[in-house]
Amino acid sequence: MGGCNDATSEKTLEPHSVLFDSVTVIDAKSGERANYYVLISGNKIVEVSDKPIESPSNCTVVNGKGKYLIPGLWDAHVHVTFTPGLEQSMFPLFLGNGITSIRDTGGLIDEILPWKEKSLKEPNSTPRLFIAGPLLDGYPNVYNGSPGRPEISVGLKSEEEAIKMVDSLAVAGVDLIKSYEMLSPDLFNTILAAAKKYNLPVTGHVPLSVDAIEASDAGLRSMEHLRNVEMSCSSDFDSLLQARKRMLAKGTDYPGGELRSDIHSAQRMHAFKTFDEQRASQVLAAFKKNGTWQIPTIALTTGGMNRLYEDEEWTKTFKFLPETIETEWIAAANKAKEKQSSDISLAHGEWVLMMVKKLKDSRIKVLAGTDTPIGFLTPGFSLHKELEMLVKGGMQPLEAIESATLLPAMYFNVQDSIGTIDKNMIADLVLLEANPLSDITNTRKINAVVRNGSYYNRKALDSLLNSN
Ligand SMILES: [Zn+2]
Repeated sequence: MGGCNDATSEKTLEPHSVLFDSVTVIDAKSGERANYYVLISGNKIVEVSDKPIESPSNCTVVNGKGKYLIPGLWDAHVHVTFTPGLEQSMFPLFLGNGITSIRDTGGLIDEILPWKEKSLKEPNSTPRLFIAGPLLDGYPNVYNGSPGRPEISVGLKSEEEAIKMVDSLAVAGVDLIKSYEMLSPDLFNTILAAAKKYNLPVTGHVPLSVDAIEASDAGLRSMEHLRNVEMSCSSDFDSLLQARKRMLAKGTDYPGGELRSDIHSAQRMHAFKTFDEQRASQVLAAFKKNGTWQIPTIALTTGGMNRLYEDEEWTKTFKFLPETIETEWIAAANKAKEKQSSDISLAHGEWVLMMVKKLKDSRIKVLAGTDTPIGFLTPGFSLHKELEMLVKGGMQPLEAIESATLLPAMYFNVQDSIGTIDKNMIADLVLLEANPLSDITNTRKINAVVRNGSYYNRKALDSLLNSN
């Protein structure tokens, strides 16, 4: 193949032609296609064929024998600006782990916007970024800048304020709106109506003052962490809701974080113990009927069960963090190791695993998201842990891949340009050394990543990961 370069010896960052020669192509639309040929030119996939493709001049040919090509991955729940000093490491850690698109689910608008602009300006070296702006919370708000709760929310006090906030976020260019737990039913509905004007999906934690079925019926597009859904699946769902409303009414002088913790302490364990199959199927039926997507963040919510902070393979990923952050995480991990996991965190993990199976069986759409950098979930690496946990929860490996490729693309209605491997799609791809369908943890065996047509071989990926 005259004029072609060998991709294994060369680091190529500028978009040009790349030919994957006899590779196994895997995506959620077509399943597994062995011995395929995929040609990329500029930032597009220009041909996908089971017949050999003539390589154009000046192209890179990648020998795909024994390798697996999947669409670029998404992490659908991240907080780029959560930890000061970590922001600038987020993009390289995502890209270095094959994550070519991310959905930021909460950060102050002035802090997240520059990252959005950077990702638009430099599409070949950053993941595509979808943003929500701040958590729209009621008052008292939870993430208010108090210790352990960085200021990533706004506490709304009136309907006028809520409408103004949604207007300003829409003008600023957010891709979705995030509603939070302390909202009153009125403010929650106001936000949904205001976002509808702009066609912006609203995702959220189910407000403590609202039942999960009500929230779904009201038009909440997606729910994060299955948060507060456990209370709605209890046989005592109604008395628990009334008790929450009383606590919220009495607690207006409390800091939001404390008030929320008190309510959770009073109700969650009881909710897990009084889980009611029949009531849960009503909740799931509402999600199905309304098209309420779920982002269970299962690697996070099984944290007490998995104790990643004492898993030596896992804590090795901390070395890719900036040094000061690495030191902080190691200290926090050592502290966490000394404590036993609480009964409630174990019950929570069991419950979420069970619910993931039910979501799958009910054919409710699930997105893979991690909540990184919260909960020792190292940016980038944690998405692969999330995929592993989704399979542990009962998904097939291809379904887990779908939740991190095609489904998030559909969520934002960009499935015509990303999420599958087809002609005319944008070239966001991950080349794996082993088959992810036989073992989902093979998504970690990354040989190369293509972002918007730019080819990152293993060496280039390692230097991205080590750039922090
Ligand atoms: Zn989050």
